[in-house]
Amino acid sequence: MDEQNGKTIEKVKEMIERSEDIVVLLGIGTVIESGGENIWSSRECYRIEEKYHKSPDEMMSVEYYSARRDKFFEFYKNEIISSCLTPAPLYKDLKRLQQSGKVRKFITQNYFDLEERAGLEDVIELHGNIKYNACPHCGKKFNVEYVRNAKGVPVCDECNSAIRPGILLFGEKILNGLMTEAVNACESADLILVLGTNMYDNMVKFCTGNYEGERLVLITKEEHYTDRYADFVIHDTVTNVLPKVISDDLPKITPKAKAESEPGKEKNEKQNKTVTVKK
Ligand SMILES: [Zn+2]
Repeated sequence: MDEQNGKTIEKVKEMIERSEDIVVLLGIGTVIESGGENIWSSRECYRIEEKYHKSPDEMMSVEYYSARRDKFFEFYKNEIISSCLTPAPLYKDLKRLQQSGKVRKFITQNYFDLEERAGLEDVIELHGNIKYNACPHCGKKFNVEYVRNAKGVPVCDECNSAIRPGILLFGEKILNGLMTEAVNACESADLILVLGTNMYDNMVKFCTGNYEGERLVLITKEEHYTDRYADFVIHDTVTNVLPKVISDDLPKITPKAKAESEPGKEKNEKQNKTVTVKK
């Protein structure tokens, strides 16, 4: 670890100890540390284009799901849900942080169900979750194993309709309510932890656009030219860093103490700003 990282780690540790209202944004890096692949990395994009003659964006689009359902599910089953990922050690540290009462929300655009399997609560899943699969016709729900084990297109065992995976496809918008909840949580946070992604990530841009504090901490392995938009940056894996910045004996905040520290959640002029969601 270089000297700069070391100094920043000490500073961030101190800030976490003093914070009472933390929002954590989980990026694709937390999936990769859990053994997953980033299908949007240039290496994976190339492999996928070679194998399927289409880009991951095209294959994961709502148009492709509608037009070529057989091919969509071939890709979805092979590349997205082929294996069950195990949450990386970093999730244990996040659980510990949550148990201290300091975390307001986790926000993720990952949909591999790592957060819930790690026992995290108050998670905003912007892009859905692979475990929510439903028949669009009769509404019957199916687990991910049912989809994974189906031959060809998974169909509802009640009405024979094709099952819709519970994740956001390209061309679909994030539900307004979820986006607002995420933006509001970030706006009033006293510290934001951005994990395993960069400031160029749409999720980070949209969610933190109204944040005017000076405690946005980016922890990520890869350097990026937008790193300067974070107030503090630590370059390393999230699994390596979290045990160093989340101390073992964090002071616990009781719900009462927390309520008192939120005097009416000041409704100021910041509310008038609008956030544009592109996706
Ligand atoms: Zn059905």
